[in-house]
Amino acid sequence: MCETSQPKEPAGLAPAAGPDQSVSLPPGLFEALRRPSARNSISRSLQDFDNGVMDVCSADATKQGALINKYDLTCPRTGCGCVILKRDVGMWVEGASVGMDDPNRPLHPDLAPLPVPPATTHWWLITPSPMEFENIGFTRAVQFSGETPGPTRTLKWLICAECDLGPLGWTEEGSKEFWLACSRVKYSIQGN
Ligand SMILES: [Zn+2]
Repeated sequence: MCETSQPKEPAGLAPAAGPDQSVSLPPGLFEALRRPSARNSISRSLQDFDNGVMDVCSADATKQGALINKYDLTCPRTGCGCVILKRDVGMWVEGASVGMDDPNRPLHPDLAPLPVPPATTHWWLITPSPMEFENIGFTRAVQFSGETPGPTRTLKWLICAECDLGPLGWTEEGSKEFWLACSRVKYSIQGN
């Protein structure tokens, strides 16, 4: 067979862009591309804010008295930075702490220790489905007896979808409520 393949455009030698290609960039994009740190979002831990959780809350425009997350929430692992939840999705709640950590294993250095129940802590409450998250992972269900006498609950821990770091929070199997510990996520303050 003789070589009769159709000539293909060689890679790298594409025809020069015609006049039609000179579309204008969306406003702000050029500046964003030029900004050297544009790809490295700045994420801060909760303890880095002077006023703690109050600095990462904003008023919910649709629900009087409710406070929601002011910044995108990211994985706390240094070097991961996976976006877990977009801003304005989680509702701030102070509620009972949950003993999520295995007492027989050392806590990962990027995870803040939570208060020992029945002390309270700060949570982001996300409802009604995991679709509200940008990225989230779940562990297998665990039988959790909790700190107060009562029925055993079946919980799943929330973990980073990218690197599996966790527990970052919890949900009860079949529940429409997902709880992220405010101290176990980072806050992406880029552009603010
Ligand atoms: Zn991660």
